[in-house]
Amino acid sequence: MKKITVLSGGMGGARFLQGLLHGIANGTVPGLDADAHVTVIANTADDIWVHGMKVCPDLDTVMYTLGDGIDTDRGWGRRAETWHVKEELAAYGVEPTWFGLGDRDIATHLVRTQMLDAGYPLSQVTAALCDRWNPGVTLLPMTDDRVETHVAIADEESPSGRRVVHFQEYWVRLRAAVPAEMVVVVGLDESSPGPGVIDAITDADLVVLPPSNPVVSVGTILGVPRVREALQSTPAPVVGLSPIVGGTHVRGMAEQMLTSIGVEVSAAGVARHYGSRTAGGVLDGWLIDSRDHDAVEEIRAAGIACDAVPLMMTDHDATAAMAAAAVALARNAR
Ligand code: GDP
Ligand code: CA
Repeated sequence: MKKITVLSGGMGGARFLQGLLHGIANGTVPGLDADAHVTVIANTADDIWVHGMKVCPDLDTVMYTLGDGIDTDRGWGRRAETWHVKEELAAYGVEPTWFGLGDRDIATHLVRTQMLDAGYPLSQVTAALCDRWNPGVTLLPMTDDRVETHVAIADEESPSGRRVVHFQEYWVRLRAAVPAEMVVVVGLDESSPGPGVIDAITDADLVVLPPSNPVVSVGTILGVPRVREALQSTPAPVVGLSPIVGGTHVRGMAEQMLTSIGVEVSAAGVARHYGSRTAGGVLDGWLIDSRDHDAVEEIRAAGIACDAVPLMMTDHDATAAMAAAAVALARNAR
């Protein structure tokens, strides 16, 4: 297989991609050519305008991670970061003060915002930023249109009993600690796939759903008109890796998001949510963690090829082994 397309969120997707590229470079992913090329369709529904700047957290997490600029401890933002601008803005009392804007990171947002202001679409801006970072993949925003995930939370002071906050406010300020009553992705239905997005799915030899958030990362990409149809019709096998291990997310907030849309928080629950391609869904195969092996038969019965292997992305080799298992499953699935 030569052309691999991955539908990615931020941290989970980026770590998987790092392991996949590591495995391709070292020849430890049987079935993939040594010169295999990876295209990433990244979620942009986390994007936010803040202090006049356009911030694209998932695009930047993938770009910095694969370009070796990420702060590996935090898992987001730039290494060797300082926070002077954020402190100065707070001293002026300018809201929001909760959003994590580092000084180095701000340079990326300024370049992006200036290019957008000059009329370039996000896809071209992303390509320009990648000229510096050389992530080793083709990085495509899912859409050039403005799409933003918002979350409804309970608020006793509001007449409706509810308040709607931007996804970043839910995650960064509220730390996903209050129940999400509803997830609304503003602009999604009216958006168009970014340049190259549909072709990347229909021309691929393999499509992978990495262990990214099934609702606010992969779910929003699938919601871009024509993307789900492309997955259903592509001749390439489509395999996913469960972001739920042992009944919970490893890190992040997949649990809160799945609960908000009424999907069981389990490896099998997410598999059923994505569904088999033989029954109108998007999956041919689904990898689950070894500790969830009891669910294998149930997932196979739903028409989805399934194996249980270790799915903890502890280091590049472990993650490359996950990629190898995904490729093996894809080859058996079709
Ligand atoms: P985000 O945009 O930064 O939230 O990142 P993604 O959407 O790409 O991925 C976040 C999800 O990755 C989390 O909700 C977890 O469920 C999942 N995840 C993180 N680390 C691991 C891991 O080591 N193994 C597995 N199987 N899933 C993981
Ligand atoms: Ca994200």
